[in-house]
Amino acid sequence: MAGREFLHLPGPTNIPDAVLEAFRRPAIDFASTEFIDLAEGLWTDLLDVFGGADEVVVLTSVGHGAWESALTNIAEPGDTLLMGVSGMFGQRWAEMAETLGYDVIKTTTELRRPTDPAELADKLTQDRQGPNKIKVVCVTHTETSTGSLADLIAIRAAIDAADRPALFVVDAVCSFATDPVYMRDTGIDVLVVASQKGFMLPPGLAFCALSSKAVEHSKSITPSNHHFAWAPRFQEGHIYYRFGGTPPEQHLFALRASLDLIADEGGIDAVTDRHRRLANAAHAAVEGWATAGPWEINIVDPAERCAAVTCVRTGDLIAKELIETARDRFCVTIAPGIIPSLDIHAIRIGHLGDLNEPMLLGALGGLETAMTTLGMPHGDGVPRAIESLAAL
Ligand SMILES: *Cc1c(COP(=O)(O)O)cnc(C)c1O
Repeated sequence: MAGREFLHLPGPTNIPDAVLEAFRRPAIDFASTEFIDLAEGLWTDLLDVFGGADEVVVLTSVGHGAWESALTNIAEPGDTLLMGVSGMFGQRWAEMAETLGYDVIKTTTELRRPTDPAELADKLTQDRQGPNKIKVVCVTHTETSTGSLADLIAIRAAIDAADRPALFVVDAVCSFATDPVYMRDTGIDVLVVASQKGFMLPPGLAFCALSSKAVEHSKSITPSNHHFAWAPRFQEGHIYYRFGGTPPEQHLFALRASLDLIADEGGIDAVTDRHRRLANAAHAAVEGWATAGPWEINIVDPAERCAAVTCVRTGDLIAKELIETARDRFCVTIAPGIIPSLDIHAIRIGHLGDLNEPMLLGALGGLETAMTTLGMPHGDGVPRAIESLAAL
């Protein structure tokens, strides 16, 4: 088909040309000063973009590897974890923790809201009065399956109010570079991030960004796995061990390009501001469609919606028909719902990564055209998105 495909998945996301080109660089000697300087520069910039991390572990892995690395270096099998579950990703992380032998206390799963800080506070208070076991609190910041955004400041306050020494571990795989994440100010101990969402890279790099408290605490832990253990990676000495094996050079060249793009845009705050503007426009479009059709944003409270992805309920309409027509006739690729009760009656519009206003309007226009083609009832959405963007 002529022209560009519009990729609006909540990962993988559009890869900018500067990032793609960075992969076309030949391999170099990883022991060379050139490579070591590159790696040192990346470390320094990563500590900064994660909002004041004290250390960062770079894994050649997908996000699942960073999930596992975060768990096994911060608690030992048999330890109790409190996990906020607000959708499919939180659920999968909890299943991983159970498989690894942790004792997992889960919150009730709310599919139309993020994890409730009050529920975490209750569970922490019960723990203080009773068994006194919770070692770690894990929360998914942006729950990509529902489009919710957890209130990390309120959750940190709940941990502090319950006077628990628990470490605070946050899945920011989808929220990094899309909604603000400030590790130091928020008091996050471990931040889990992956490359293929806000970083605009292919999958293949994952990160555990750490507070100094997490670094210290991890020294008292014997990880139940080997490759994902942090201690050998902290060692001064050969760069090979810092990466747990051969450094993924081309991914790191590309990460350099991605960090440079973030800096050129005005830094991470400018990047998250853009995401919020685009998300507001997407929400406005759905509200327009909803004036004459069954469309509904899954997350009801605007303050609880993330900026990375919008999950839209389609009422009785079959989402698959819309997704296929949008993709096959109008070059717009969006994602299906993945929450069990919602999979055939929901769509997810990704609006994260290398994306600007006309790209979003193009995608919303393509979707709206597909609705018209299919005779799916809807009000005017695109003019609302235009109004939302023009107002700024
Ligand atoms: C995408 C995603 C993951 C999983 O990342 P993979 O790289 O696919 O392993 C985990 N958590 C959230 C919130 C995500 O959006």
